[in-house]
Amino acid sequence: ALPAQPTYRIASIPADGIGPEVIDAGIQVLQQLAETLKTFKLEFKHFDWSSETYKKTGKYIPDGGLDELRKHDAILFGAVDVPDHISLWGLRLAICQPFQQYANVRPTKVFRGTQSPLRTCNTGDLDWVIIRENSEGEYAGHGGRSHVGKPWETATEVAIFTRHSVERIMRFAFETAQSRPRKLLTVVTKSNAQRNGMVLWDEVAKEMSAEFPDVTVDKMLVDAMTTRMVLKPESLDTIVASNLHADILSDLAAALAGSIGIAPTSNLDPTRENPSMFEPIHGSAFDITGMGIANPVATFWTAAEMLGWLGEEEAGRKLLDCVENVCEKGVLTRDLGGKATTKEVTEAVCDEIRSTL
Ligand code: ATP
Ligand code: MG
Repeated sequence: ALPAQPTYRIASIPADGIGPEVIDAGIQVLQQLAETLKTFKLEFKHFDWSSETYKKTGKYIPDGGLDELRKHDAILFGAVDVPDHISLWGLRLAICQPFQQYANVRPTKVFRGTQSPLRTCNTGDLDWVIIRENSEGEYAGHGGRSHVGKPWETATEVAIFTRHSVERIMRFAFETAQSRPRKLLTVVTKSNAQRNGMVLWDEVAKEMSAEFPDVTVDKMLVDAMTTRMVLKPESLDTIVASNLHADILSDLAAALAGSIGIAPTSNLDPTRENPSMFEPIHGSAFDITGMGIANPVATFWTAAEMLGWLGEEEAGRKLLDCVENVCEKGVLTRDLGGKATTKEVTEAVCDEIRSTL
């Protein structure tokens, strides 16, 4: 008899802009993969939470919504924000915070068949994972305004760094680096100018390196890091940085890899007490919403990352391989210099799964 197939319950939240288009594409490809491999099953439940429902109800998540979400093994998320309602973090934060998704993981690479804007960068030269502290730091929301409207008006934005949070993200980063072939971790700070929180980062990195003797640790200041990403992309592998620094570095990384339409983001609760959330790195892209030309590749890679987190690493690798094969065949959306539509790329990936797996 065949071994029992595990069934994973996936909550999908397409939300705003191109979110519904790319999540549809992602689910189509995931279903094809499950049908072809026959090693696991997927059950999807859709949640229509978005900026639109927020405008109507004043809530991102209806009462009891989080408990409903908690029943799932993973969350597949589209994008938030609509032009007239720049909520930025609203819905995402309403999930990330209670679910303690403190590790934000952003892999980036140059796919076969695509081009980095860096003249000297070939496929294989740029293959990074950026790990972003997702719970505190510069985005902790501590601060305030005083003397408003006066010439001496003052605003403070206090960055919060607790040993607890720095240690847990650093441990996660070391473990990630250790799991990759090069076992190289670059710890990014600005400890020459920010002499408290960033120094704590450096100290924790140094302490923890004793527990991971096989991982090479490399310290970088964030300003020098931007130069190194552009000039020596092949010298980097796993990168860990604070909330703000990693936010900026990962946008740079996405651009260097060729398009923001490629890369995924995982919001992980490494304790696995709560479901983790997987989303494409790009936003709602309202300039192309409804046009059918959004690049679904970021969502496909996101789906592959989700499978990996669920324990289906091999299925995730196979999916990503099929996606790269399709890129290599030249089936590319406009952002990657091609002419294909979302639907054409999605169908090409489904065909590739059917014919090669
Ligand atoms: P947000 O604040 O929601 O992150 P943003 O202003 O950072 O939004 P995006 O929505 O990510 O911006 O879009 C930035 C640019 O990249 C836009 O021109 C958009 O059309 C393009 N873009 C984003 N995602 C995709 C995609 N999947 N396919 C093609 N183009 C995309
Ligand atoms: Mg953005």
